[in-house]
Amino acid sequence: MTKKILVLPGDGIGPEIIAEAEKVLRVLIDKYGLGAELDHGLVGGAAYDDSGTPLPEHTLDQARAADAVLLGAVGGPKWDDLDTAVRPEKGLLGLRAGLDLFANLRPAILYPQLADASSLKPEIVSGLDIMIVRELTGGIYFGEPRGFREADGHRTGFNTLVYSEPEIERIGQVAFDIARKRDSRVCSVDKANVLESTALWREVITRMGADYADVELSHMYVDNAAMQLVRAPKQFDVMVTTNMFGDILSDCAAMLTGSIGMLPSASLDANGKGMYEPIHGSAPDIAGKGLANPLATILSVAMMLRYTLDEAALAERIEVAVEAVLDQHLRTPDIMAEGAIEVGTAAMGDAVVAAL
Ligand code: NAD
Repeated sequence: MTKKILVLPGDGIGPEIIAEAEKVLRVLIDKYGLGAELDHGLVGGAAYDDSGTPLPEHTLDQARAADAVLLGAVGGPKWDDLDTAVRPEKGLLGLRAGLDLFANLRPAILYPQLADASSLKPEIVSGLDIMIVRELTGGIYFGEPRGFREADGHRTGFNTLVYSEPEIERIGQVAFDIARKRDSRVCSVDKANVLESTALWREVITRMGADYADVELSHMYVDNAAMQLVRAPKQFDVMVTTNMFGDILSDCAAMLTGSIGMLPSASLDANGKGMYEPIHGSAPDIAGKGLANPLATILSVAMMLRYTLDEAALAERIEVAVEAVLDQHLRTPDIMAEGAIEVGTAAMGDAVVAAL
């Protein structure tokens, strides 16, 4: 069956890195029998310039009709002074909400070839391979009531941290299922000693653990998890956590690798439909210069193949090709090292295609 992939290049380096990912998709379609067709749309600043909104209804319709969405990045100084309601980032949030993408998968992988790029000692991070599963549509970022009020003569800001059992169960299931495809270990991160909502989190995840007897389950308080991530990150396989804890820990884990140009991400709904994007932004400082690293976006295609299109073998083909270009010592400026060969965005994409 032919699957539909909606491609949303977005802003800044978005179109440049997406062009390289599309080259890879074309090879898979033309040479390796991937049954997929590509559709294109506008989001972010590009959509605002076109129609005055960062997420046109047409784009949301296209995304709903697609099996998977591949997104570049949105935003840039050109749109910084816009009203919050129409800023490019709203396009992203609108897609996540509109598609009910509740599970955010953030791998932090450090290829041994790039171990020197980390600020940590190579022996601590070389070969790092963690998957952080972050709940994306609940918790304190969305909880009600929220707002500002007068209390005891002071202005007070308040938010609500709330999780229901079904919300915890569905993100737990994603984490356990992914662990089964990896090293079968889940570490659930909470603050159960202080917060009732995450005491419930621990209770539900513990209960679910009994149904996944083949997966080793552990629990960790978030403060300890932050320490362990920088002390001994290779102890983790899959980490599952709440929206806010995941927001912070996933960026921390990403920085362990020292190269945001290498890291993909996925946001999934309950049926496996997903939006795939690099974790970095639109990098306006290098946009249009052909310097951007396209590998995070190309690796996002690999995630799409694995988690939505059920084509794990093709995903692995891409990952092996990326390793091969690193072995050839090809580096974009962001990951450049002494003795390596510096290449631009298109040359890096071409090298991956050649390695495929
Ligand atoms: P950024 O990730 O765009 O850039 C941070 C630094 O990393 C810059 O020096 C940039 O040149 C570099 N960088 C990023 N991606 C790179 C790549 N693929 N190759 C080489 N170098 C790369 O973050 P920022 O500067 O804080 O934000 C810039 C814009 O992007 C803002 O408008 C922000 O709102 C937006 N943003 C968008 C997303 C998204 O679309 N998901 C995420 C974060 C930021």
